[in-house]
Amino acid sequence: MHQPAIPHLHAADPDIARLVEAEARRQFDKARLIASENYVSPAVLEATGSVLTNKYSEGYCGRRYYEGQQNVDPIETLAVERAKGVFGAAHANVQPYSGSPANLAVYLAFAEPGDTVMGMSLPMGGHLTHGWSVSATGRWFTSVRYGVRADTGRIDLDEVRDLARRERPKIIWCGGTAVPRTIDFPAFAEIAREVGAVLAADVAHIAGLIAGGAHPSPVGHADVITTTTHKTLRGPRGAMIMSTAEHAAAVDKAVFPGLQGGPHNHTTAGIAVALKEAADPGFGAYAHQIVANAAALATALLERGFDLVSGGTDNHLILIDLTSRGVAGKPAARALDRAGIELNHNTVPFDPRKPFDPSGLRLGTAAITTRGLTERHMPHLAAWIDEAVQAAAKQDEARLDGIAAEIRELLAAFPMPGWAPTP
Ligand SMILES: *Cc1c(COP(=O)(O)O)cnc(C)c1O
Repeated sequence: MHQPAIPHLHAADPDIARLVEAEARRQFDKARLIASENYVSPAVLEATGSVLTNKYSEGYCGRRYYEGQQNVDPIETLAVERAKGVFGAAHANVQPYSGSPANLAVYLAFAEPGDTVMGMSLPMGGHLTHGWSVSATGRWFTSVRYGVRADTGRIDLDEVRDLARRERPKIIWCGGTAVPRTIDFPAFAEIAREVGAVLAADVAHIAGLIAGGAHPSPVGHADVITTTTHKTLRGPRGAMIMSTAEHAAAVDKAVFPGLQGGPHNHTTAGIAVALKEAADPGFGAYAHQIVANAAALATALLERGFDLVSGGTDNHLILIDLTSRGVAGKPAARALDRAGIELNHNTVPFDPRKPFDPSGLRLGTAAITTRGLTERHMPHLAAWIDEAVQAAAKQDEARLDGIAAEIRELLAAFPMPGWAPTP
């Protein structure tokens, strides 16, 4: 059953309660490899499910528009101070509702509509909010995009520099959603400095790795850093913006009153708890284990003949190009889900297929590492992935169900925060 238990929900709304229980069970039974997901701790769950959701707190600590902030002010102050401590940043704003609004606040702080902005192209691994055409950021700004080299699958910094010199963007984004390699923050900073752009590092995927010392930090290189709090950082769904002292006032003004009303105080408390957990030495071990697991899984997949974009990974994320396997990303992802392996179909760089039916699969090791899986489990996982992809090509549903049962059996030995067998 769900942990903490949800008896009032069962009594008041059995339909929703049943679905919450079913979801908890699903998260227990499956190898969750969606690169942006994780399992938060029971402490984060409790903070997020608390009475703090009842309170309005527009403004910032000591400068609120509503009374009754005796407890919310110290909660937000703790979250801010812990963020600054964990990342070594001069300034932190913990109020953005999620990663996309955090990025919008950066545009509001540092650009005017119509200005030129630069980011990694979505099909190359960038995020929608880095100026992609269907996003508000691509419609309200003149967006120019960089990508990766066809031969290496890695960001082409010469292209980034040439494009920046030619287009003179106001903001340059680095970081992305499907980037399996280390981001070279000093190189981006040098380019941004040369052209007078604000460098915005979006570390949504890798924030936990940075906090745990398993990826270089953008602090000291980027002017502004945005991150979600719910991916490798293992907090509640939310976001933060960190910056140099110079940009602190512009960032805060953009978030409130520029873009948002009241902060979600229950989320702020959950972020504070997650940051306390991230400051614990054990979190460094967790972050390094995520990377070790991804490296071991990549090696095992390569040994089985899978093509990986960039040839491997430096972080938590692996991008598989299925072209040589004779199955597209979407049917493969659906078959893998049936086989108890949850991931998402994804475009690969220079994908010849359409975005809604692309050639690739994206996966990450943050959630399975939280469950306690280690390098020794990765060859088994790669074997199941391989078998499921073959079963997908043959539409062998019985084999897919067989794999799901084997995975359930393995995972039953690894406790999950948020669910436990009924006593
Ligand atoms: C996930 C992600 C976001 C968006 O976060 P949401 O909370 O889903 O809005 C922004 N940027 C990057 C790089 C991301 O990976």
